[in-house]
Amino acid sequence: MTDKVEPLTRKISPFLLVILLVTLILSVSALFLAVDAYIRDNNVVNAGYFMLIGFIGLSLSAYMLLQSRRRPSRIAFEMPQVITTILCQKCGFKNIRDFQKGDYIFKETEPCPECNEKTMVASIYREVKEKEK
Ligand SMILES: [Zn+2]
Repeated sequence: MTDKVEPLTRKISPFLLVILLVTLILSVSALFLAVDAYIRDNNVVNAGYFMLIGFIGLSLSAYMLLQSRRRPSRIAFEMPQVITTILCQKCGFKNIRDFQKGDYIFKETEPCPECNEKTMVASIYREVKEKEK
């Protein structure tokens, strides 16, 4: 029993990609305009202006790219830790481990290391951090 719920956050959305591309093109053309204004008209004010726009656009698109890349790891970091408690019905041996796919309460799991009897999932809960309160 494995349900596939894979997060699709690793993919960059096409919408973001278009914005990124437009920003990139605009900033590059602004840089070209800056060079053009400087060489042809010797207009330092205009050149500086376009240069500024170009660099802002470039850093903006770089920032957006970084943000979209960073999102998956941040989601993984914020994922609450789910704990599964396994209890042996015979000797009371208790084992606590991370939740694994397909775990459910009263599910029979691996044999008890103490008495070799089958153990059961007793509880599944989310570990709440004190800081989040
Ligand atoms: Zn046992």
